[in-house]
Amino acid sequence: MTALATKHNAINLAQGFPDYPISGRLMDLVYEKMKGGFNQYAPMPGLLTLRESIASKLDHLYQLPINVQDEITVVAGATQGIFTSIQALVGRGDEVIIFEPAYDSYIPSIKLAGAIAVPIALEGPNFSIDWDFVASKINDRTKLILINTPHNPSGTILIQEDWNRLYDLIKGKSIMVLSDEVYEHLVFENQRHVSLLQQSWWRDHGLAVYSFGKTLHATGWKLGYIIAPSFISKEIRKVHQFEVFSCNTPIQAAIAEYILDSKVYSGLPSFFQEKRDYLNEQIAGSLFHIYKSAGTYFTLVDYRDISNKKDTEFAKDLVEKYGIATIPLSVFYTNPVENQTLIRLCFAKEITTLKAASEILNQVKSEL
Ligand code: PMP
Repeated sequence: MTALATKHNAINLAQGFPDYPISGRLMDLVYEKMKGGFNQYAPMPGLLTLRESIASKLDHLYQLPINVQDEITVVAGATQGIFTSIQALVGRGDEVIIFEPAYDSYIPSIKLAGAIAVPIALEGPNFSIDWDFVASKINDRTKLILINTPHNPSGTILIQEDWNRLYDLIKGKSIMVLSDEVYEHLVFENQRHVSLLQQSWWRDHGLAVYSFGKTLHATGWKLGYIIAPSFISKEIRKVHQFEVFSCNTPIQAAIAEYILDSKVYSGLPSFFQEKRDYLNEQIAGSLFHIYKSAGTYFTLVDYRDISNKKDTEFAKDLVEKYGIATIPLSVFYTNPVENQTLIRLCFAKEITTLKAASEILNQVKSEL
């Protein structure tokens, strides 16, 4: 979609990346660290200063004591973190339950490990998980359940009850939970992100993956981290050692200092909620039906009053005829839900971009 957007000189609300600059202080810190000699290989699990800053952030957010030696591994973005974790945790013939619509790296990572993805389709408008149905998919080969909250692309979040239901299903079994929490700070309307790490059982059953790309508006930096109990970290690091070895040193050093100030992430919900609300208000009079996103920097809109085309065709029309790129929801499914007329919009954009995008979306006419 991004390539198509470039070709048609379209406004790109498709791929999830901000179009505004990152913090000047953070840029200065990177430069400072480079000048200060932080330019050679970092230790394999990540710079100790960064792991310490991550630990104090987790303590501040979740009152969670974390062992910086064994429980934090810095990775080259969450995609690598997820890939590495999957390679470490599952092998040939194992089954991994995922919920779709899903981030596109999950299935290839599972297949490359020789394992089998077991997708469970969630449907709008709620995209809620039917835990009884999940129970029916669990068997002796099930080794991993992949969770994503806040959820890309639906913008929904898991609540404590979901975690309780999930635990009921895995208790006493050798099933792990990999929780993709890259949007942990992007939760709106004073709701709270409920993390795997807040579950009393997480050290027996799981690990969570995070991304500085989302938190620092720097998706191109590709830096993130995995929080895992030491017995899982040990396995993950065996893969990480020969896949990446170590991540960008000056950026790690800069982030270590930058995130010591909790305002860096405490301001994110209101920052993004303002953008979400602006977009929603601007297109309230359009023919699109808006799904109010509870988290992430995406929102879904339903075009059922405009067209009955397949979402892939509708999204293509939007780029080619109207000059706006979005993502059709069906691409996030193995077996797309029939007659779902949803596209995803990314609102991590300058207000001027959102204004221009809204003007276009307001002009989209009914083909029915
Ligand atoms: N998980 C989800 C749900 C995502 O949306 C993304 C980014 N689009 C990632 C993981 C990957 O994060 P990173 O850029 O740090 O690899």
